[in-house]
Amino acid sequence: MASELQPARGTHDLIGEDQRRHSHVVDTARRVAAGYGFDEWTTPIFEDTRVFSRTLGETSDVVMKEMYSFEDRGGDPITLRPEGTAGVCRALVTNGLTQSLPQKVFYAGPMFRYERPQKGRYRQFHQIGIELVGPSEPLADAEVIACGWDILQALGIAGDTVLEINTLGDKASRQAYRDALVAYFTQHQAALSADSLARLDRNPMRILDSKDDADRRIVADAPTISGYLTAEAAAFYARLKTHLERFGVPFRENPRIVRGLDYYGHTAFEFITGKLGAQGTVMAGGRYDGLVEEMGGPPTPAVGWAAGIERLAMLLDAPPPAPATVVVVPVGDSAEAAALDVMQNLRHAGIRAEMAYRGNLRRRMERANRIGARAAVILGDDDISRGVAQVKNLATGEQEAVALAEIAAHLR
Ligand code: ATP
Ligand code: MG
Repeated sequence: MASELQPARGTHDLIGEDQRRHSHVVDTARRVAAGYGFDEWTTPIFEDTRVFSRTLGETSDVVMKEMYSFEDRGGDPITLRPEGTAGVCRALVTNGLTQSLPQKVFYAGPMFRYERPQKGRYRQFHQIGIELVGPSEPLADAEVIACGWDILQALGIAGDTVLEINTLGDKASRQAYRDALVAYFTQHQAALSADSLARLDRNPMRILDSKDDADRRIVADAPTISGYLTAEAAAFYARLKTHLERFGVPFRENPRIVRGLDYYGHTAFEFITGKLGAQGTVMAGGRYDGLVEEMGGPPTPAVGWAAGIERLAMLLDAPPPAPATVVVVPVGDSAEAAALDVMQNLRHAGIRAEMAYRGNLRRRMERANRIGARAAVILGDDDISRGVAQVKNLATGEQEAVALAEIAAHLR
């Protein structure tokens, strides 16, 4: 009967090596981000639906067709968060932190999108992300990107990725560009997908991000924003590039990057890889100066990124090794009390130690080998009466008698 119960489509369990890869990504990112001055926040996994529907853009894929939204038992509209930035901005406003800027936020946790599951694309997936709220200088954009680059370096996967950057300009630039796009796409209306047609009036820049093949052919010849940038927007972008060079982060420009969510302006960027097939974007972000205001706060500049933990974990070359444990083996019932003392001493000294609950010496040693234990501490009655135990190095097979009080020091 139990076998009929499968994980919900698009979800997966993290066990063993999968969990170790996942934890390694999060721990590494948290450590590197802390070095850049980012503090971790944990915001709720579900929010009032309006936190997302108002801010991500009503024509974005996420809002149009990917959100897990429902009414709870009290009739409140609830959405499982599809991304992290909106919740962080909501938290900034509701905790009164818009007057204490800058805020530098790191987060990690599950996100939910109703998507067609495939390699690197799930319905429950996990993201790490950082948000730098307050500074409007392009140096902040560069720093956020440099932090992402350093995390990829620390994970040993930077060499598998390429950073692509673009500018979405300021409001005036986008207005002029928008008009140009509407004119262009209107000429090609007949060949556009239904989704893109729906976006033509409301948000034609989103068409640039379409994954539809026919759309992509039309997009290939669409005008780029570079011809429509105001002097200020062009200067912002130029300074970003200078700073990135200063930080030593290699990049290439890609005028097609618009990002999937509507709240971005000026900087947009993606770290992409050729190693994950169609799901090639591992880390993506940009500047979102209007979002905090849409959440009911004052106008507040901000820039950040999010990265898919599953995609980063897949790129890790070698899985982090399973932790090596010490197995404590009492020989006979009367040795069990001494074994417990030894085991707790090891644990309190910070050494991972375990004991099988039952079985004779042979069974217990077999188990120690099976779980890859690095050492066994074997306690027989004779040894205990002499105040020693046999400590066996399971890698080399060497065994020696060690005073009970010295075992932790011996194994460290
Ligand atoms: P994509 O173009 O792959 O759909 P996106 O533009 O929707 O990505 P973002 O909203 O920018 O993605 O999210 C940032 C990162 O989160 C992505 O680059 C990716 O690594 C990861 N991500 C997004 N959606 C999923 C998903 N359904 N499953 C796994 N990872 C995801
Ligand atoms: Mg998507």
